[in-house]
Amino acid sequence: MKQELRLQTALRHSRGQSPGTIPQCFRQLGTSPFRVALDWDQGERIHPRGFNAMHRMKCATAVLLLIWRTVSPAEAELAGEDRVHLTKMTGHLYRITAVSGFEVNFVASIGPDGILLVDTRFKDTAAELKDKLHALGQRDVKFVINTHAHVDHTGGNRFFGQQAVVISHPALRGKIQKGRYILDENPDQALLELTLSDSLNIHFNGEEIPLLALPGSHDNDDLLVHFTKSKVVYMGDLAYGMHYPTYDTDTGDAAKYAEIVGRALEFLPDDVLIVSGHGKDCTIPEMREFQAMLSETTRIVVEALESGRSTEEIEVASLGKWANYAGEYQDAAGWIRALAGSVKKRGKPSVDLIAPMYLARKADGIGAAIARFNSILNASPGDYHLDLYIFGKYLVDQEAWNDAAEIFALANSAHPDNPYVWLFWFLQAEAHLAAGDSQSAREKYQRCLELKPDYAKAKTRLVELTG
Ligand SMILES: [Zn+2]
Repeated sequence: MKQELRLQTALRHSRGQSPGTIPQCFRQLGTSPFRVALDWDQGERIHPRGFNAMHRMKCATAVLLLIWRTVSPAEAELAGEDRVHLTKMTGHLYRITAVSGFEVNFVASIGPDGILLVDTRFKDTAAELKDKLHALGQRDVKFVINTHAHVDHTGGNRFFGQQAVVISHPALRGKIQKGRYILDENPDQALLELTLSDSLNIHFNGEEIPLLALPGSHDNDDLLVHFTKSKVVYMGDLAYGMHYPTYDTDTGDAAKYAEIVGRALEFLPDDVLIVSGHGKDCTIPEMREFQAMLSETTRIVVEALESGRSTEEIEVASLGKWANYAGEYQDAAGWIRALAGSVKKRGKPSVDLIAPMYLARKADGIGAAIARFNSILNASPGDYHLDLYIFGKYLVDQEAWNDAAEIFALANSAHPDNPYVWLFWFLQAEAHLAAGDSQSAREKYQRCLELKPDYAKAKTRLVELTG
């Protein structure tokens, strides 16, 4: 419950987020958004003017839900809050925590050579970050290092990338222009100028800063950044403050975490402090324990699968002493699903659905996007409800209500056996209502309630519509 409460708070923080954040949230979650979407029902006020996308993250991650635009008292309070906090770690090295839906940690070296920024957080906190960096007397961001592609680490690139050299793993550059990232509609300045697939040393503000490529677990483009004189390492989302991590379900592999973190530990000296992308800082002994947890839980889950058990049959208790490693972003059952899902996915090609649909709609409208979907579904049968949800959500963010309604309808017609059919009826109803089509909205709310009679939000809407 505590986790759910925190996630709800996170949602409230997240208004106004880039549309691009949403797909990422899901991928990092490694789970369906819909399970958690229900939590949002309580206490949400309704305003019948337009959609808003909400997400809750873990990565962190978030889980997203479409709700009506409204400003709650909690949000009004948060609007005036500082969301970017800088803490001095050493002479010129700062730990930065940004809150926008959830916390992300990153670091900056600020000194006579200018500013080296490791990760840029979401675009909605970039202006505040810029002001706070300037307040420290330095305005010149020379380098931006992205530790991986997720938009809670790269979303500010559009602000800082213009003046700085942007550095990352080569997989990031191509990725940021296609697939689900295409919905982010990143400008050129968000892209990379310099890539490394192995290692790179930067000399900046009086210290040597090795960058080490460690792709393959959280995502396929992770880096760590070691500030040697400061004895600080930023591990991005390879470190999770001593909790189960999340991973990118498309291009990451949860079952590779143990190996990748092990490689980081081989590289790092014993006296460094590790800054996690999410969660508390860690020492090397703590990271060794984290790595042991990763290694043991992976072994347990792999052995269970090999013995013929299904993912659902692998109990949390089977994780033994590691069963209590749950954190804000991942619980034990979620970690088991992540490991099992990664193992099962190996060797299977991923189908890029969103980019072709996005491009087809841009060229020839929503009908072309739907035709593209149908041809992909014929060629590669599967359940694409989550992709359709993400694409529909993007259309909601664009206030393309009729197009969104068509996509939510498509999800139900293509996947009638999906357990979240009721939610797609609801989403379709919301889109119809936003488009001013009360009659269609009423019908879809009723369809939703036929499958999910206790869904309070649909009941409320229906009461409003019918008087
Ligand atoms: Zn991430």
